[in-house]
This record gives sequence, structure tokens and C-alpha cells, in this order.
Amino acid sequence: MNATGPSSASADIVIVGTGHGGAQAAIGLRQQGHEGSIMMVGREPNPPYERPPLSKEYLAGDKAFERIMIRPEKFWADKDVELRLGSGVASIDWMRHTLTLSDGTQVGYRRLIWSGGADPRRLGIPGANLKGIFYVRDKRDADGMMAALEAGAKRAVVIGGGYIGLEAAAVLRKLDCEVTVVEMQDRLLARVAGTAISEFYAEEHTRQGVDIRLSQGVSEVVGDDGKVTGVLLDNGETLPCDMVIVGIGIVPAVAPLIAAGAAGSNGVDVDVFCRTTLDDIFAIGDCAAHANPFADSAVIRLESVQNANDMANTVAKAIMGDKQPYHALPWFWSNQYDLKLQTAGLNIGYDETIVRGDPATRKFTVIYMKEGRPIAFDCVGTMKDYVQGRKLLESEPGKIDAALLADTDVAIKEMI
Ligand code: FAD
Repeated sequence: MNATGPSSASADIVIVGTGHGGAQAAIGLRQQGHEGSIMMVGREPNPPYERPPLSKEYLAGDKAFERIMIRPEKFWADKDVELRLGSGVASIDWMRHTLTLSDGTQVGYRRLIWSGGADPRRLGIPGANLKGIFYVRDKRDADGMMAALEAGAKRAVVIGGGYIGLEAAAVLRKLDCEVTVVEMQDRLLARVAGTAISEFYAEEHTRQGVDIRLSQGVSEVVGDDGKVTGVLLDNGETLPCDMVIVGIGIVPAVAPLIAAGAAGSNGVDVDVFCRTTLDDIFAIGDCAAHANPFADSAVIRLESVQNANDMANTVAKAIMGDKQPYHALPWFWSNQYDLKLQTAGLNIGYDETIVRGDPATRKFTVIYMKEGRPIAFDCVGTMKDYVQGRKLLESEPGKIDAALLADTDVAIKEMI
């Protein structure tokens, strides 16, 4: 706020969040021929960039920031998209079609697209505020880790054996750190994958020198002089370390929307056109809870670049009068060491898994079945299975013989 009262601004379409969904919404609107003004408001100081490399090539130092930008900085000005960086949205008045930024600035809109993503879930144990604890969500987090490594950190404890924790572990091993992964469940990747994938990655990380502790909770982060020196496990053991990386899930960043009255209990609810329950407000990406057609219409949130981009395109089209319900096959990838995992479909509610190929060759596919139908593929180094598996799932297949799916001499495309 300044001496003369709060400043104000407005745009035809305001996009909140400069991540994957927000950036693609602006790109999609211009591609669809939208000529009105577009403003993107984002908390982060950087122009839109890709988040996946933060636990992969960027963290490893293999890609500079310029190479992970979603578009070169000048693109946004060329497309007449105003970027308000370093600005958080504090509240929304949907009846007046106005939002308030954290510095008090009022911003009017005709349509609002919320792509706020999520914040990392924080540790709630003693020692959680010590220096040397890192979350992995934005550039600042990755830069913090890189600075700690440069300053000589050599021993890391990764809390959480999900994709982000494991990717970070792989990079840290490559950088010659001693790494221990602590996971509360009895297997890695328990929330997202079947046991064949869990076991394969546990073996791979062990082979690469990572110490994996399953079925272990963390009761305290211990430190000295305000800085991390170790992690105390529930079993009483202390793992000495110089840094702690936390990957224990995310919390959708939707507080202003919910406070304004939008429906939602796990993120914000949206319909097939990504409309929230508030007039002229859409929501997309990690924070958008939707009935997914590839999960028997279960209401879920997806945390993937594919979902953020495809929802952004759904909204851009809907705003331009080309209303097409969101109907995109989910896909995802994870890179660890030299291994590339690609997933297609959603394995929610699977009742059987088929392993196609031999995990010992480090190239194999896991097919998730529900009532005799394939519903998802996890492909480790099997690009053909992934490409053809996507096509098969998009065809919404009926029952397929398990022996046929397991037979590597029969191409998946022959089953479409
Ligand atoms: P984000 O990209 O998170 O963007 C949200 C933006 O909104 C952020 O910049 C945030 O600061 C801002 N914001 C939030 N609240 C406010 C507010 N009130 N005011 C202003 N700005 C606000 N997905 C894959 O498919 N493959 C991968 O390999 C993969 N790897 C990943 C690795 C890491 C380390 C991380 C963190 C994520 C990874 N993901 C991956 C997930 C993927 O990056 C996300 O699903 C995707 O970024 C979601 O896009 P989004 O627009 O919903 O949110």
C-alpha cells in the first residue's frame, strides 16, 4: 500500500501461478486467438520454468536455469502477457471480480485461472526449523541444496521414498554424497507403484550405494548451533548427516480460493471444463480435484506436467468458446541414474499386475489390471511398450489375456 491508498490494475484474464499450468494457460489462450489482456501473477521471482529438472538435471548441475525456462524471457512480452513476479495473491472477491495481492494491490479480472500448484508438506517434528533441511519444490529449494553441497555437505538423509526423494537421492549419489533414504512404508514408491517397481528401485538404489531404511519413522531432526547434524529415527538410532531432504508429499495451494467460498476439501473442486464453483474462476494443475475418466470418474488430483498442461488447454479452449471436456490420458516420467521410467494411465484400484520382460535386464514393463482390463503401464526403459501402451489405454480396452500381455514377442499394439 502507498500513501495514496492501494494501487490497482486489471486484465481481461488473470492467471495465478507461473508454473506449468499457468504458463500453458497463457500460451494456449494466445494460440487459440485470445486478443484481450493477460496478466500472470506469481509468488516466485523467476519467469516460468520447468519444475521436474529441479530433482534431476538442474540439481545435478547438468542444465543451467536458462535451459529449463518454459519459454525464453522475451516470449512473454512478445505475446503481450504481463508478468507480475514476486507477487502473492492474498484474497479473492469473486463477486467484484477482484483479487488482492499481498502488497495490497487490487487486480480486477473478467476471468481468473488459478494454477497455484502446491506447497511441500512440512515436517512437524522437533528440529524441523534447523538449517540444512531442504524441501524440493521451487528453484530456491534446489539452489539451497546446491549451495550446501558446494559448501561441503557430504552426508544426506532423504526423508520420503517417493519419486522426488528418490530422484534427489540418485543425483546426490552421482555427486558422491553418502545417502540414506528413510521411508515410513514397508516399500519405496508405495503410494504410486506396485511391488515389482518398488523392489526394482530398492535394489537399484542399494546397488548404487544408497542405504534404504523402510518401515521407519523420523522422530526428530537433531542439530548443533542451529544446524542439522543428524536424524533421529523412531527406533532410537541417529543417522549423522550434513543435510536433510524432505519429500513427503504436497499440500494444494488454494487457501485464498477456499476462503472466497470455492468448494474443495483436497484442493479445489472443478468440473469437466475446469470451472470451480465460483463464477468465472477456473482451476488447473496440481490443485484441481476433478472426476478423472481414467479412474472410473473417481475425484482425484494429479501431480504431473501432463495434467497441468492439458487442463490449461481445456480452459483456454473453453474461454474461447470451444468447450471440450477434460479427457486426457495421464502420463508421467521419473529419471533416476540412467533409468527412465515412463508411466501411462492410472493404477487406482488395480487387482493384478503383470510383469512383461525381466527386471534383471533393467528393461521391463509392469501392467496394472482391473477386472481383466489393463488400466496402467509402468515402463522402465521400454519406450515401445510405453508408446503402444498409451495407445492401448486410450482405446479404452476390454479384457485382455494376461499371458498375451506378458509375452514380449507380442507387441502391445497388436492388442489394440
Ligand atoms: P506449479 O508448477 O507448482 O506452479 C504453481 C505456482 O503458483 C508456483 O510458482 C507457486 O509459487 C505459485 N503460487 C501458489 N500460490 C500462489 C498465490 N497465492 N499467489 C501467487 N502465486 C502462487 N511431473 C511430471 O510429470 N514428471 C516429473 O518428472 C516431475 N518431476 C517433478 C520434480 C519436482 C522436484 C517437482 C517439485 C515436481 C515434479 N513434477 C513432475 C510435478 C510437476 O512439476 C507439477 O505437477 C506441475 O508443476 C504442476 O503445475 P502447476 O501449474 O499445477 O503448479
